[in-house]
Amino acid sequence: MDSVDVLVVGAGPAGSTAAYHLARAGYDVRVLEEHPQVGRPVQCAGLVSQRVLDLAGSRGSVRRPVHGAAVFGPSGGSIEFRAPEARAYAIDRAALDLELADRAVRAGARFDAQVRFDRRQDERDGRVLIEATQDGSTRREYAARLVIGADGVASAVARAFRLRRPVEILPAFEAEFGRSPGDPDRVEVYLSRTFAPGLFGWWIPDGAGGARVGVAVNADGTSARRYYERMLEFLSRRFGAPLLNPTSYLASGIPIGNVPRTSGDRVLLVGDAAAQVKPLSGGGIFTGMRCAEIAAGVGIDALRAGDLSALRLAEYDRAWRSEFGEEFGRALALRRIFTRMSDADFDRLVETLRSSELLGTIVAFGDIDFPTHVVRRLLGSSPSLVRLVPKALGAWLRPRSEYQVPDLA
Ligand SMILES: Cc1cc2nc3c(=O)[nH]c(=O)nc-3n(C[C@H](O)[C@H](O)[C@H](O)COP(=O)(O)OP(=O)(O)OC[C@H]3O[C@@H](n4cnc5c(N)ncnc54)[C@H](O)[C@@H]3O)c2cc1C
Repeated sequence: MDSVDVLVVGAGPAGSTAAYHLARAGYDVRVLEEHPQVGRPVQCAGLVSQRVLDLAGSRGSVRRPVHGAAVFGPSGGSIEFRAPEARAYAIDRAALDLELADRAVRAGARFDAQVRFDRRQDERDGRVLIEATQDGSTRREYAARLVIGADGVASAVARAFRLRRPVEILPAFEAEFGRSPGDPDRVEVYLSRTFAPGLFGWWIPDGAGGARVGVAVNADGTSARRYYERMLEFLSRRFGAPLLNPTSYLASGIPIGNVPRTSGDRVLLVGDAAAQVKPLSGGGIFTGMRCAEIAAGVGIDALRAGDLSALRLAEYDRAWRSEFGEEFGRALALRRIFTRMSDADFDRLVETLRSSELLGTIVAFGDIDFPTHVVRRLLGSSPSLVRLVPKALGAWLRPRSEYQVPDLA
């Protein structure tokens, strides 16, 4: 049995970030990763903000900065925003994961690859015992003072520690194309109930002449791949040519919602395992890394104090929610409206946003990590936009209103 201070399950951006900070503080940290290679398979469109690069302490994964975005309505009408400065970065996601793992290793963390967390057993001598499987067959055991569940959307750690996760999981399907038509300096977002009910479709330049094209949708019985195929037909019309020869496919899920508890006795959940994902975009790299940093801080204090009780670790829930709770709450409420909008509503939305005054507001205040800030400004300055959303939410989203969860029943 391997005995460690902290066992981190999952070597994605959240797990490696937590491991780095804990190892740097002098703790004995072990990271379990079920795949043979960190960063593979890639399950991401690779679009991040400057904040991710800051948290990573490196720009090594950047393939190209992106200055613009276009949002298309179902009938093909669009709005375009372009800022003088880079608003996002197309990254090599596998390279980011490797960089983060490498940083954690240099700080002293150890990675066990091809080891899958299976279950926890009872506690013994102030440590929780964990059962894992190496290479699909060999049983491994670990004893840890603290476990960090960074094992993604289907978190086995959340289940093992009975942290309920009543979140919505949006099926997603994406393909990579080595070559693609389209403007490599902007991302494209497609709103449509026909091929992306529930979230949206995307075309994101990969910074190397190709693109990542995908959809995330409601779990309504139709496969995400089927929706993706419908979107490809739309894209063929949009680009005037079919997108050909995909180099890879990925199918995964995006957790959206509010997990009531992300901490318990000797356990913290971070990243997708805790559904720390932006509800309006499904992006989770920034939020997961930042929450992992917060988790490491709370973990370090608790390890020092020798108190890893649920009561003590609940500080983590308070801390990350004080940073993201309001944004996530507003975004979830907006999402409830968004999912009820028809194709005609989407076309009207695009048409309304076309007014140059509103476009200026979006360019000036748009922030991919905190999108509700600009939505509130827009609703505060545009009566025609407010008319598109239910009254209760329109009032609640306007600037300077008190933060409270609206009753949309
Ligand atoms: C199609 C798609 C596109 C996306 N595009 C973007 C984007 O452009 N920008 C953005 O910010 N976000 C994007 N996201 C979301 C983003 O990928 C996730 O939010 C992010 O990867 C979460 O990081 P994480 O470290 O929490 O989990 P993950 O990156 O999922 O890492 C979890 C790790 O745990 C490992 N693991 C799982 N179970 C076990 C186990 N039992 N034992 C051991 N190891 C285990 C997995 O192998 C994996 O390596 C996208 C998601 C999808 C599905």
